[in-house]
Amino acid sequence: MNESRVMTRSVALLSGDLDGAVAAALIQTQGVQVFGLAFATQFSPVADAARRSADQLQIPLRVVQPSPTEYLQLIARPRFGYGKGANPCGDCRLAMLAAAVEYLTELEAQFVVTGEVLGQKMMGQKRSHLEMMEHHAGIPGRLVRPLSAQLLTPTLPETEGLIDRSQLLAIHGSGRRQIRALGQRFGLTGSEKGAARCRLVDPAYGRRLRTALVSRLPAAWLLPGLFEIRQHQWSEDRGLILLGRNQDENDRLGQLFLALPADPTILLATPIGFHGPTVLSVGLSFAEAEPKIAGELRKKGFPAEVGERLALSDKSNDWVMRLVRESPV
Ligand code: SF4
Repeated sequence: MNESRVMTRSVALLSGDLDGAVAAALIQTQGVQVFGLAFATQFSPVADAARRSADQLQIPLRVVQPSPTEYLQLIARPRFGYGKGANPCGDCRLAMLAAAVEYLTELEAQFVVTGEVLGQKMMGQKRSHLEMMEHHAGIPGRLVRPLSAQLLTPTLPETEGLIDRSQLLAIHGSGRRQIRALGQRFGLTGSEKGAARCRLVDPAYGRRLRTALVSRLPAAWLLPGLFEIRQHQWSEDRGLILLGRNQDENDRLGQLFLALPADPTILLATPIGFHGPTVLSVGLSFAEAEPKIAGELRKKGFPAEVGERLALSDKSNDWVMRLVRESPV
């Protein structure tokens, strides 16, 4: 083995996807010491999947979790815009690369490795986009994409002889055959879902989240699970009413209520004596929420009978609310 390679170190971005793991393995087989780094956000919780890849590669893994509020700020004002949902992929990739560069400096490593593939549709990985990322990350020539390296400008580790370009690949587009075959050869079982695992890429989820980002609700209340509930009703831009469509959503609304802070404007309403949706109201006082919850239930056909009730709670207070007033005789 070349002596210069014994000391060569790299940081590989891992998310549990096969591409990232295969890219890391291609560098590892050249005698380079690889350290994994996973960037796990509240919308893309990849830590466990990345750890499986790191275990298969038998490399250490650092998991970086940006603060949820800071990551929401990044989503609210992305420099490079959105994908189909609320996914600010350009900015998010840059934040990942910034974390990788910090680890690189700490380890005195020579380069960063990613599983990006030129022309892959889902991530919009055009040549200009890949070059721009490298430029903005502040590591010109030190970002190696082993899966497409032969189609890209040679990087410094290649020209300096730290890695052998001829052993890197020339994959273009979304075809998976070669990556799957390499995964099998290296004994890797990473996911093929790619960005689909990130909640932000779903257009409907993204719309709900982006509406909340411009609302007056505190950022700390914007838990990822809120935007999985499809029945969202806003009251101006400060009150959000969520209705469960089935038992699973009703249970999730109960869990979200428990996860949110104890605040008089966070209320959970559950039906008493009839089958209907659980309702979570966020940002409205009891007096404001009561008619809106009743109105939403009536619009959905709940309840039709006089005397039906809802139990309401704000964690420190409980009320019983009548849904239909007794009609005057
Ligand atoms: S898909 Fe999600 S996690 Fe991946 S780069 Fe885009 S925003 Fe970030």
